[in-house]
Amino acid sequence: MIHILFFVEKGKGHNLYDIDGNVYLDFMINATTLILGHSHPKVVSTLTEQVKKGVSFSAPTESQGRLSKLLVERIPSIEKVRFTNSGTEATMLSIMAARAFTNRSKIAKFEGGYHGSQDHVSISVNTSRENLREETNPGVLEHNGISNSLLDEVLVMPVNNIEKCKELIYANKSSLAGIIMEPIISNLGYMPLDYEFIKFIRDITEELGIVLIFDEIQSFRLSRGGAQENLGIIPDITCLGKIIGGGLPVGAFGGKEEIMDMFNPNSQNFLVSHSGTFNGNPMTMEAGEAVLEELTNEKYLQMNNLGDELRNKLSSVFNELNIKANVTGIGSLFAINFNESEVNDYRTFVKRDILLGRIFFLGLLNQGILWQTKNAGALNILSSSKEVDQFVNASTKMADKIKTIN
Ligand code: PLP
Repeated sequence: MIHILFFVEKGKGHNLYDIDGNVYLDFMINATTLILGHSHPKVVSTLTEQVKKGVSFSAPTESQGRLSKLLVERIPSIEKVRFTNSGTEATMLSIMAARAFTNRSKIAKFEGGYHGSQDHVSISVNTSRENLREETNPGVLEHNGISNSLLDEVLVMPVNNIEKCKELIYANKSSLAGIIMEPIISNLGYMPLDYEFIKFIRDITEELGIVLIFDEIQSFRLSRGGAQENLGIIPDITCLGKIIGGGLPVGAFGGKEEIMDMFNPNSQNFLVSHSGTFNGNPMTMEAGEAVLEELTNEKYLQMNNLGDELRNKLSSVFNELNIKANVTGIGSLFAINFNESEVNDYRTFVKRDILLGRIFFLGLLNQGILWQTKNAGALNILSSSKEVDQFVNASTKMADKIKTIN
């Protein structure tokens, strides 16, 4: 595991500055959150105004209504939405919603999928090669402190494997409340799942009355309506986070009215309590609204095209030097993994050369390029071919070095 080795002084535009005077071209942007870059003038002025009016009230503000409206208008599956302070809380509450709605107990997740740090999703996320299990339900607890009993409550399934999933889902159909998934698996180098596979999961969950939860905490940056709009596949619940808070702590989940009404104390269907001191606070709501308003279709197109440009250029670098590397991702999200085989699921992803990845991360950092320690990154609206080329040039230098070592 690599830990970031510096303390940050400030971020401005595309750059991050550390306290030792180093400047980094930032493709980490707070784990993909800062889609307008650091301290965007509109976000700064909005927050400055709000801070003068007060930062949190434990009562609704109009900004909460406005941000909700923007999300409902843009995201096909969301009829009603609730705010949290993190993506972790959003996935946790969505899982509770699935259980309450179906009166069933089990949840299914996919091997390699990351959905935050609450215990029900802390199973089979980054399992090491040695610890992978071959049983029908290959769940592996992610770390200490998680009850073993969760292995009975959480079913772990392989992505892109319709036959296996069909078998597992039918075998658990009477107890399965929900399936949580990302349409693009962030933890596997932003790997888009096969369309047929996602469609199959949507169809079988509909057939068996299982709640389908899309975690779009990262993929909502791909278009105005997120990955679900691009795919034309609509889940029952969608989890959000990152970009919708403008850089402040945030999460949200929303879906069909009949599901969301379970959280409404005034509804006859009230079944689940949800409270939180900072939920929907006006600082986050104002910043989130400022960001979404900036994100026009043109901006998405620009970022997504640049993403294609970056992936193509990086692939050429590795191909020309005959280095086994998969350049993956979609839209403004990209990743490199050093792997002999194509990545199609967690079992193929885990075969990557982790040491080489770490060397590559540090090699880029030494050239003033910051991205995620797991060799993944994101573009923002300030990115242009210039920044793409800076990333590619630094990568070319590192690829040349790797070639010499080998
Ligand atoms: N789900 C996905 C796909 C994420 O990438 C993350 C965070 O990286 C989360 C959930 C958890 O969100 P948070 O860190 O806000 O708790």
